[in-house]
Amino acid sequence: MPTEATILDLTPADAAKRLTDWVAAQGLPRYRTAQLLRRLWVAPIASWQDATELPRELRDRLDDALPLPRLVPEVVQQSQDGTRKFLWALADGEKVESVLIPTATRRTLCISSQAGCALGCVFCATGRMGFRRNLATWEIAAQAREIVIRHPADKPTNIVFMGMGEPLLNWDAVDAALTILNSPEGLGIGARHITVSTVGIVPGMLALAKRPEQFRLAISLHSPHARDRLALMPIEKKYPLKDVLEAATAFHRRITFEYVLMAGKNDRERDAVALASLARRLGANVNLLPLHPGGNPDLSATTATRIRQFREELTARGIDAVVRRSRGLDIDAACGQLRVKMEPKLRRDQGSLVGRAS
Ligand code: SAH
Ligand code: SF4
Repeated sequence: MPTEATILDLTPADAAKRLTDWVAAQGLPRYRTAQLLRRLWVAPIASWQDATELPRELRDRLDDALPLPRLVPEVVQQSQDGTRKFLWALADGEKVESVLIPTATRRTLCISSQAGCALGCVFCATGRMGFRRNLATWEIAAQAREIVIRHPADKPTNIVFMGMGEPLLNWDAVDAALTILNSPEGLGIGARHITVSTVGIVPGMLALAKRPEQFRLAISLHSPHARDRLALMPIEKKYPLKDVLEAATAFHRRITFEYVLMAGKNDRERDAVALASLARRLGANVNLLPLHPGGNPDLSATTATRIRQFREELTARGIDAVVRRSRGLDIDAACGQLRVKMEPKLRRDQGSLVGRAS
């Protein structure tokens, strides 16, 4: 069960209203509202006791009246390439992952929107575990908040909804979380630096398109042929490729196709030709992703040589295509993989995990 709504579930505008009312009801001076609001997202704290600009007696009252919920890191792993992976324990025992990927110019945080996923894509470790529950707004946005609390210098510059779950099947919570991540009174991350990744949930795509901010959309395509796509992604039955592409044209912004290359499934030359023609029609660029092992033992990754060729088959047709380097391979930093791998171990030995967080 998701936790009850808290002050961190509200958009900054709604939180400001709630704080204004609370401050007035407590007979406090009005300037306290801005002081409190700042501590939710702009300069976040672990608990009100850390807001040392406030009198102790007020901090105690806040702890009772407006508690700040936390995500508890069950495991934190650091890859040799600097990628950091977090496995968060939620209040009801569910677990979700985030991955922080630093490069020379940005720090991208990959976040989860659901515990598990109902959609069962055959190559995906999260899909294999099935659907557990939707995350609450605060549980989504707090994946970034927790990082800022620990190390303000590590504040993410970019957010991608490419962790566990299908964000557009948890639209209400994701909608509010997008506002928190983007708003200047929230985490202040530019909309163009926030990407929602979806298999193509058409109503959710239309809802995202209605938002005035320039949030980015990535569509997990994985095959340009409906029949091949259906074999990889059962959702193709409910939202067929042609409807997804039509909804994408309503988006009126540049979109990205994500394409996980799997040997013999979607990496033939005719796949590249058809993919190029779809990408051209929609003005989409293409992210090619090497298959991460662990999602399904029956699938094998396309070789590095063939991935390069596939990219050239796209670029030769005028498509902007990049191969995403696999980051954090040594720490299982792909969708759902840490949780799946840790589960037997977590059950066996709660006490002595490598990299267990303090
Ligand atoms: N549910 C959404 C967002 C989360 S998955 C979606 O599917 O788009 C984020 C990305 O990780 C998707 O593009 C998905 O195809 C990819 N992914 C899943 N399993 C993978 C694996 N084993 N190897 C590489 N990428 C994978
Ligand atoms: Fe769900 Fe995305 Fe994994 Fe498919 S790839 S099962 S939609 S998380």
